[in-house]
Amino acid sequence: MNTSELIALEERYGAHNYHPLDVVISRGEGVWVYDVDGNKYLDCLSAYSALNQGHVHPKILSALTEQAGKATLTSRAFRNDQLPLFYKELSDLTGFEMSLPMNSGAEAVETAMKLARKWGYVEKHIPRYKAEIIVAEGNFHGRTISIISYSSEPGYKNDFGPFTPGFIAVPYGDSRAIANAITPNTAAILLEPIQGESGVIMPPPNYLREVSEICKQQDVLLILDEIQTGLGRTGKLFAYQHEGIIPDVVIIGKALSGGFYPVSAVLSSEKILGLFNPGEHGSTFGGNPLGAAVARAALKVIVDENLIENADKMGDYFLDRLSEINSPHIKEVRGRGLLIGVELRPQAGGARRFCEALMQRGVLAKETHENVIRFAPPLIIDKETIDWALSRITPVLFMD
Ligand SMILES: *Cc1c(COP(=O)(O)O)cnc(C)c1O
Repeated sequence: MNTSELIALEERYGAHNYHPLDVVISRGEGVWVYDVDGNKYLDCLSAYSALNQGHVHPKILSALTEQAGKATLTSRAFRNDQLPLFYKELSDLTGFEMSLPMNSGAEAVETAMKLARKWGYVEKHIPRYKAEIIVAEGNFHGRTISIISYSSEPGYKNDFGPFTPGFIAVPYGDSRAIANAITPNTAAILLEPIQGESGVIMPPPNYLREVSEICKQQDVLLILDEIQTGLGRTGKLFAYQHEGIIPDVVIIGKALSGGFYPVSAVLSSEKILGLFNPGEHGSTFGGNPLGAAVARAALKVIVDENLIENADKMGDYFLDRLSEINSPHIKEVRGRGLLIGVELRPQAGGARRFCEALMQRGVLAKETHENVIRFAPPLIIDKETIDWALSRITPVLFMD
């Protein structure tokens, strides 16, 4: 079937909870994808940073196929031989003593919220069911009812209440606002180191350091959602490392499986994650041997192929070149590593039409909010490919 036939089927039989660009991808390899009509595109979204290792990485593919022929799912009623190695390797890489595996990012965020509440009651002795979690305006942590309860995006929440109580939103990037919002019932602060979905919003320098300090003084957990920023995307393993802090809890997902299979995890200390008792939390697929084997391979690729260093170098290069584009449409170019946002002026007519024009020229990028084009290619990208992309991006940014 061709592009228009497949799109017609999708529109007829699928729920319309997305507004994708009209490109129908049938194959991916590295930084490139191919549509059903044989056109080739550079992927500058990487499935929202789930494809840091590139499409169909051969090492992750062979881990997947090999494990798929052995054992795929045991449930946690029994043990499997992949999960312990995944735990150990994840701990060695990240420095956190323990982890708890889930599947989607939202599930890992839910897990971290449950953990924070339990810690609040058991360790901080917050009166039962009074625990509060402070979040930032403009956050994106997923789509469950509890998570959208503290979204500030009307389209994500308006028709979906009643909402889960216990969350307080403060402006992002303002550590004083956090200090002022803390009460004796505050269990945790939940933040993204950079707000990706909100339009690659960077907090001011030292923000995370100040928040980390406040959390320590006030006996509040700092939970960082690194689902999009983590695993090399910003030029460090975790974005918080740019500020030299160590949070209490870190949430990862997306690139943890290199795009093959949903794997997420909550990382923390034994003191905190050890608070979960048998039966208090779980997931049928969480920690399954297929996911664990895939994640082990995906992490190994990040390390073995120096993807973190490459994200740092190529990110600087890409950001510098984009910053030099002197188009009247551009309001700001910002980002860290290979998570870059080009914010257009309101008069530019919205980022969507620029993304459509980029697609025509073989570059796939997606608007985030009205006016931001996000450029986040796989971390395996090289300088020649960035130059090729720039030769496509530059004229588009000058179009009428
Ligand atoms: C994508 C994302 C999530 C949600 O992950 P899902 O796998 O889509 O549930 C949560 N937080 C951040 C920062 C994300 O980018």
